[in-house]
Amino acid sequence: MEVVLTADRTLMSNHHGKEFLGFGTSAPPNWLPEHLFRYLFFPRIKSVGGLPWQAPYGLRKIEAKLLDEGFDVKTVYPDSIDRFNPKVIGISVMDPFGWGPSSTTFAGILKTGEPYLAKYFRMMLESDSYRKAKAKGARTIVGGPGAWQFKFNQKFMDKYGIDTVIIGEGEHEKAVEIYRMALQGKELPKFVELKPSECPTLNEISEIKHASVNGLVEIGRGCPRGCKFCSVTLRPLRWYPYEKIEKELKVNADAGINAGVIHAEDILLYGQSGVIPDEEKQIKLNKLAKRYYKNLSWSHASFAAVASKPKLMEELSEIILDEHQSWWGAEMGIETGSVELAKKIMPAKAKPFRAEEWPEVVIQGAGIMKDCHLIPACTLITGLPEETEDDIIKTIELVDELKDFPSLIVPLFFVPMGKLKDREWFKKEDMSETQKELLINCLRHDVRWTREIGKIYFNKNVTLQAIRPFFSLFFKIIEWQGKRKEVL
Ligand code: SF4
Repeated sequence: MEVVLTADRTLMSNHHGKEFLGFGTSAPPNWLPEHLFRYLFFPRIKSVGGLPWQAPYGLRKIEAKLLDEGFDVKTVYPDSIDRFNPKVIGISVMDPFGWGPSSTTFAGILKTGEPYLAKYFRMMLESDSYRKAKAKGARTIVGGPGAWQFKFNQKFMDKYGIDTVIIGEGEHEKAVEIYRMALQGKELPKFVELKPSECPTLNEISEIKHASVNGLVEIGRGCPRGCKFCSVTLRPLRWYPYEKIEKELKVNADAGINAGVIHAEDILLYGQSGVIPDEEKQIKLNKLAKRYYKNLSWSHASFAAVASKPKLMEELSEIILDEHQSWWGAEMGIETGSVELAKKIMPAKAKPFRAEEWPEVVIQGAGIMKDCHLIPACTLITGLPEETEDDIIKTIELVDELKDFPSLIVPLFFVPMGKLKDREWFKKEDMSETQKELLINCLRHDVRWTREIGKIYFNKNVTLQAIRPFFSLFFKIIEWQGKRKEVL
């Protein structure tokens, strides 16, 4: 075989069909025994002959591109790399060293070592399967959202025989050329860093040929809001036509997936170059997805878009909610409750409202979502270079205001990315008493709502109902360890 594509087993899992449980992979080993933790958060995906039933969407995209370019390629389970005798091994990474925002936050609370996602990535490179393929001369190319981390850990590349790391969207011709060069035995560059202008066009992005984890299907790339701490915003905005989206929905549905996620940085802005959702496009898009998936969720949306179209949200809830689902989920960024900080780091996040209105936009959006049964996992960022104690207090006040909003609020430590990529990392040792208070408040909110949301999150699924107490136990452990180690 010319090329096999793979990812470590924390990524090669569908997390019991619950995308949000994937967050658990960024936790470090804790009081739950590892085999139990693995089963709870990243159970092994069903595979036949080393080929997984579902694979991470990013891998499926590269697989599709390479197939369209005439390569002999398969996506394989990580313990089956050698079985296919590959000349090139392509690996997708999300957070290979545990330096991403959720891993560093977990580490700040639990303080107990290498997160699972980093551990299992390393273990994959130490496995017999990988080592045997390398001994036969296979070359290794790494890409994916976490590829930037290798710039700071080149020794690791040498140690595990990683030839090239591609940073950027892997369908670009420059990235595909690296696979050709690898097969031809040519000398490879250590890094290929694609500039924001070097992004594939819509026509260059192939449609997936095999099922993706949790039926995830992209509807577009890029974001027009331009937050300073975000790398997505540097790339051009591209929306896929309905036909392209439908082809991928069909691939997943044909593979037996009937619950899925549509993915974009803001689903509500589908087809728009600005920040106001279009009713007709939204209705058409959600009806289309619902035709293939009995249970539909959104990857991301924004408070501002929700707040700008309450009537549309009501209509969308009527399309999405039915006898198969009583709520739907999305990830949404609050980031801060401070108007002053919002103006500095994310002036367009509140648009079409003014940045000065940001906290009210969040509260208004929360009210609309509560009425529509959209339950989000919200993120906050603390440790931003320009954040003051007063900004943190404002965020604490906003979290208090949201106490009756069915949601999870996940505080993340600042990691230098986007336009702030040259700024200092936030270190957990630098956490102030006010930041600890913010973490405590979020944890209280999450403990309360995890209990409530858990009742409907795991409903109807017998396996998940049976293991639900263990998830509750995990949350209790976080709370207890946080208190014991005097972080909380
Ligand atoms: S709204 Fe989200 S995706 Fe868009 S720039 Fe801001 S953080 Fe990035």
